[in-house]
This record gives sequence, C-alpha cells and structure tokens, in this order.
Amino acid sequence: MDKDLKNKSYIDLLERVIAGGQKPFAAQYLFSFIHQKDAEQIADITPLSKTFRQKLIDEGFSIGGIKLLETHDDPDGTIKFVFGMPDGVRIEAVRLRDGDRNTLCISTQAGCRMGCKFCATGQLKFQRNLTAAEIVDQVYQAEKAVGRIDNVVYMGMGEPLDNFDDVVRSVEILNDKLGRHIGIRHITISTCGLPDEIKKLALASVQPRLAVSLHAPDDAIRSKLMRIGSKYPLKEIMAALKTYQSATGNRVTIEYCMIDGINDQIEHARSLVKLLKPLKVNVNLIELNPFGGCRFDPSPPKQIQVFAKSLSDAGIETVIRFKRGRSIKAACGQLGATWLKED
Ligand code: SF4
Repeated sequence: MDKDLKNKSYIDLLERVIAGGQKPFAAQYLFSFIHQKDAEQIADITPLSKTFRQKLIDEGFSIGGIKLLETHDDPDGTIKFVFGMPDGVRIEAVRLRDGDRNTLCISTQAGCRMGCKFCATGQLKFQRNLTAAEIVDQVYQAEKAVGRIDNVVYMGMGEPLDNFDDVVRSVEILNDKLGRHIGIRHITISTCGLPDEIKKLALASVQPRLAVSLHAPDDAIRSKLMRIGSKYPLKEIMAALKTYQSATGNRVTIEYCMIDGINDQIEHARSLVKLLKPLKVNVNLIELNPFGGCRFDPSPPKQIQVFAKSLSDAGIETVIRFKRGRSIKAACGQLGATWLKED
C-alpha cells in the first residue's frame, strides 16, 4: 500500500481519515498543509492532534519529496531544473518566462517508451513512471526558486497518457482549491496520441487543456519520425479526438515539429489542413531542436513562415513557437540530451 501522503488526492485522504474514525476536517488539514504550505513531515501538521499524527507515523505514512540537484540558466530567462528522486532516478523540468508569468514544463516519466526519433528523451532507456507526488513536487520545488507558477504544461520527459492514473491525480491535486489551486485552463497535457487514453481523458474528473504532437500529415511520414506512428494510424487518433471534442467541447492544440525536407513542404501543409478540418484546433509550429545523434535538421525559418501562412490562409489558427532554452538543452525534445552518453 502506498504510504506517501503527498501522493493522495483530497478525496483519497478524506476516505482514509473517515475510515480511521477521524472527522473530515483532518483531511483538509493534511491536504492543505502538504500541498499549500509545503509541510515536509507529518509532525509539522500541528492542527492535528499529536495522537493522530503519531498514529499515521506508526502506520508507516510519510510525506515524500524530490530533491533539486542542479539548475541551469539560459540567457533568454529559461531555467532547467534537474531533480533527483529518492531511488536515484533523475528527471528535468523547465521554467519559461512570459512577461511576469511563469510556465513550468514538467516530466511524467523517467525516460519514455514512445521512442520519437527527433527527441532526446525518446533515446534514453525507460526507467519508470513518476508518482503523482513526484509530478506535483516539481511545481512546488520550482516555486521555491522562481515564485508562483502560473501555467503547468505536461510536456517534459515522458508520455503523460502512458502514466494515466498518476497524471490525472496530479492534475486533480494541482487544481484543488485546498492546494495550489492552479486553474484547470492553465494546465495542459501533451500527448503523442494514444487513442484509448485520449477517449478516457474525456471522461476524467478534471479537464485540462489537451495538446497532441502530430508532426506529420500522413502515416508514412509519421512512422519515419515516431515509433508510435506505425502502431496508431492517424485515422484512429483523429477519431479519438472527435470523441474527445464531442464529450468536452474543448479545442485541441496540435504540435508540429518542423523538420527540413521531411514534413515541411507546401503539399504537407495542404494535407494537414485536410486532416484537421473536421476538428476545432490551433497549431503550434516548432522548429526542430537538434541534439547529439539526431539525424534530422530544422526547417529553414522561411519554410516555416510559408508553411504557417498556408495553414492560416486555410483558417487554422497557427503560431510559430520561439526557440527557448537551447543553450542549456532545455528546449522541446532536448530533455535528457546531456545524459545520452551516460545511458
Ligand atoms: S516527444 Fe514526448 S512522447 Fe516522444 S519520445 Fe519525446 S518525451 Fe516521449
């Protein structure tokens, strides 16, 4: 049985507290002290009786935590955090600054099983899923260094929907008004497109924003770029997104990494428009961020502009994402790049 109290949603704690014969307010104190006041040990939750705190400790409960090992600063204001888990596993998170707002890109797995060929994390050996506690703690630890985190994007190391239960619970925890209370529209889950999990997300208790990394207008190109491309045809992903949108009404962001000569030609833009027409979407075009051993090149800026115009002219809201954090290997697809040689 999981004994980390940080890993539990408010409802989980409430059930546990009531089963233990305590009043519901005990769950409120536990949750708010852990997720709002950063309590590190049960003994710190002083509004609870000494007897109850001791009982929890005697039963083996504790409050887990991850450790900030390193920070790396890019001149553009991006900061990469390297965190260590209690079992020695390392992961990374990235703070992006927009005016006076902080966005944190967080990890959900150590390594990744999806094996996208343009992504450094995909080349690392998959180690394990992170717990909900380890996911939310990235936000808490980053806040100690940079102040309030306004937006959270699940776009760091790992495929969030491949760790479905802990990811959804972590969103519940971050969004809970007794905790950090980060607005649900300020939380984005980014997936490379797992159809069953996308449909499952439509029925989840929380509805964060959804982004899908498509990167190709057809299955042939997608399979060249992403191992998962040959497992899930685009037809299946589009059908799952249709189901998701009928259930939630939410617009979906499409992430599209621009790779020279592979997926960036005008005919690719036309096919993409055709593919996306039945959905309510906006598109982010991302210039490829290379890492050692990556066999693709970024598209020339002019080609990205032409591609973007073609989508915009067809009525699809399109944004070109600026390069951020490249000097510290913190840009999209670069997390874990510095460990590749060690793996
Ligand atoms: S792009 Fe995302 S899903 Fe693909 S290998 Fe990298 S971390 Fe995994």
